[in-house]
Parts: sequence; structure tokens; C-alpha cells
Amino acid sequence: TTANSTSTAAGPTSTALFEAARAIIPGGVDSPVRAFGSVGGAPRFIASAGGARVRDAEGRDLVDLVGSWGPALLGHAHPEVVAAVQEAAARGLSFGAPTESETILAELVRDRVPAAERMRFVSTGTEATMTAIRLARGATGRDVVVKFAGCYHGHSDGLLAAAGSGVATGGLPGSAGVPAGITALTIVLPYNDITALQECFAERGSEIAAVIVEPAPANMGIVPPEPGFNEEIRRLTAANGALMIADEVLTGFRVGPAGFWGLEAIDGWSTDLPDGGAGVAPSWPGADWRERAAWVPDLLTFGKVIGGGMPLAAVGGRADVMDLLAPIGPVYQAGTLSGNPLATAAGIATLRLADDAVYASVASASARIQAVVSEALTAEGVAHRVQRSGSLFSIMLGADAAERGVRDFGQAQAQETHWFPPFFHTFLNAGVALPPSVFEAWFVSAAHGAPEIEAIAAAAPTAARAAAM
Ligand code: PLP
Repeated sequence: TTANSTSTAAGPTSTALFEAARAIIPGGVDSPVRAFGSVGGAPRFIASAGGARVRDAEGRDLVDLVGSWGPALLGHAHPEVVAAVQEAAARGLSFGAPTESETILAELVRDRVPAAERMRFVSTGTEATMTAIRLARGATGRDVVVKFAGCYHGHSDGLLAAAGSGVATGGLPGSAGVPAGITALTIVLPYNDITALQECFAERGSEIAAVIVEPAPANMGIVPPEPGFNEEIRRLTAANGALMIADEVLTGFRVGPAGFWGLEAIDGWSTDLPDGGAGVAPSWPGADWRERAAWVPDLLTFGKVIGGGMPLAAVGGRADVMDLLAPIGPVYQAGTLSGNPLATAAGIATLRLADDAVYASVASASARIQAVVSEALTAEGVAHRVQRSGSLFSIMLGADAAERGVRDFGQAQAQETHWFPPFFHTFLNAGVALPPSVFEAWFVSAAHGAPEIEAIAAAAPTAARAAAM
């Protein structure tokens, strides 16, 4: 059954399932933010999903704004994606040998993001960024990596310092179990601070292997890059013999066919545009992309949408750097299930379906949802600001955020985060599932249509009132 069919639920409730899970799985979850730690209560256990809705263990359909944390660009269980996976499954689940589908998917990615001249598929975004860092170190013979506070690049040792997403939600400085010797090789800088970046390169430029950045950070809420920030990263890395790694695990194939790189570097998206750049229609890079691009990273990482809901991610980039990977180069990397046929089938189907109409539909649904929620908050006198990078958005809470906006992790953490749990739970009780943390993006899909927007609009006034109390 899918979430769109009717059922009579007689099984255990989410609360009972959570109790059982907690007795055997630490915290009851396989990824921390799922545990509702920052909003309280038991998470909904999901039985099935279809389109823009998920169905919980109680049999309640919820309008879903989590979207599996990003992959569900087309909505859940898109029939053509499911069929592609079923057909692949019938031919065998995994071979540990190359398949044609890996090449097909790699070509689909390169059509959209031509800077990914070569690609290597892995199973998670964490592996993709980990491999990108190893490649950068292998290519430069240097050890130091620069990241930005509030940017999340997965849970590998060196990248957990001052990370966003679940690390931000839990209020953790990083993680126990990470040797100081490893984080000593990570320099953490404030996001959107060109001066700090310039000073860092002036002092330690010759030690730096790479700067890794979410070109449009989405793991401390949405914090758009200030105009010129990505370009300055590009300029400084090139001038100092370091690599630029654009982590598009979350933004890739979501904010447009060519990810955030396409939107900013090719289309000229900018927060300086009158409507915050919301009106910029994402385009394909075109044959003359290299001349047109304001910045081109050396390496990119992809995940989430690229696998259409299956475990798939990729690192891509300059051929000369990518060819340092084993078996032809000295940088080792491997994976039993890397590029497995079910995941590549889902990825191919998803990218083939994600056309201009899909991006236009996500953008217009996103704009409507932003408007109805923001209007409700304003009507209740809740100080807030909607921040967006293309169709991705989040809502920053508090007078400071409303007045000056949020440009870095410190300002994101200074929000009135305690307004969020009642806002979240009121929405959930009304049948709308927001991401369970103020530091996460709201994920809209092409399946979010008028009925979902109406449901959100109907719930928003009471949720806004709860936030105001
Ligand atoms: N990079 C970014 C920008 C992400 O948003 C995430 C996950 O949210 C990751 C890397 C890690 O990906 P995964 O959770 O698949 O390991």
C-alpha cells in the first residue's frame, strides 16, 4: 500500500515502536536527528509513502516536508523510479563487477555538471566528501583542510568540527572519539567571511590541500552565500595551489539541473537580486559553460537526489585529479556496494525525469509554502525571516534574524530556537511533518501541489500562534 491508499491501522503505535527500537538501537534511530531530540516526543514511524505524503504507523497521512532529507525531489515512490528499481532487482541485487548503468548515470551527471569530467560512485555523501578530501591531499601532497562552521559534510573524523545538521541540533562541538591529531588538520572558518579566508591563506596558504564548502549551506538552516564568496574561495585556492571542493550532496540536482553551481556560477543567481534571486529560473550549463562560469570547482560531491532515494553518492571533478584514484592512481578508495545496480537504476530514472518542468514545479510550490507560512507567522507577530537559496528554504526565528538575516553559524545558533518545538508539533498534529530541527532545510518536491499547500496553509495559523506563546 502507499500513503495514498486507505488502510485500517491495527499495529503498534509510533510510541510503542520507538520504545522497542530504543531497547536495541542506540536512541532508537540510525541517524540522530530522526530521534526528535530538539523538538521532544516520539518520532513518527513511517509505514509507507507516496507523492508528497508519508503514512505513519498509526495509519495517518502526513504532508511531508522532510523528503527523506533531500532525495525525494520527484516525491516519494514515483512509479517510474520504483519500476526501474524493480526491474533492476529482478536482474540481481549486486554483482561486485562493473555494470553499464554506472557509465550511463555518470554521463547524465556530466551533462548537467560538466566540471565533473570523471566520476566515482559511492554509497553515501560521507564517503564522497571523505574521498574528495583524500584526493585533494593526494593531489597536493598537503594535509590541511579548510571548512566553514555550520557546513555539514557527513560524519567522517576530520569534517565533524563545528558541523551543522545533527551536530548543530544536538548542540555538540564535534564528536567524542575523533583524535585531536585529526581535527588539528582541519581549520574551521566563519562562513561568508572573506577577510577570515584571506587571512587564513596569507598565514597558511602553502599547507592547505583544499577548501571544502557547501556552495549554498543548508545544514544550519539556509544561509545563502554572499555575492562573490564562492568566487573568492576559487580565486584563493587557485592562487595558493589548493583545491576547491564544492559539496553539492544536498543542493545537487535539487535547486536546478546543475545544482547550486549552475544557479550561481552560470545563471548569475544572487542574494542582491530584488527578490533574493527567487525569480532566477535554473538552466542547463550549455556548451560554452566554461567561458560563462563565474567559478568552477576542482572537485564536487553529490548525494541524495542522485540516488533517487537509494544509497548512492558520487565524487566528480577534474580528470587529472580524479585519475589519481585507484586502480590507475595512488589514492585508494573502494566499496563492496559502490555503484550497485539498484541505486544506479533509481538515479538514472530520477535524473531523466528531473526536467525543467520538475524544477519549475518545485520552485513554485516552495514559493507558495514560504508565503503561507511567513504570512501566518507575521499575523501572529512572530519575528522571523525566510532564507532561501533557489527553491531551498528555511525559516529563521527571532528578532535579530528578522532584522539582519542570518549569514553564519553563530547567527544561526542565536535564533529563538525554543519557538520551534511548539511550532513543529502543532504542524505535526495537524498532519504536516516539518524537518524536526530549526537547523534543517524544508524539502519540497514536484509532487507538492494545491492540496498539500492548502493543508499547510490551514495548519499554519495555529502553528504560528503556538510559536508566539
Ligand atoms: N554533505 C552535505 C552537504 C550533506 O547535506 C550531507 C547529508 O546531509 C552529507 C554531505 C552527508 O551525506 P550522507 O548523509 O549521505 O553521508
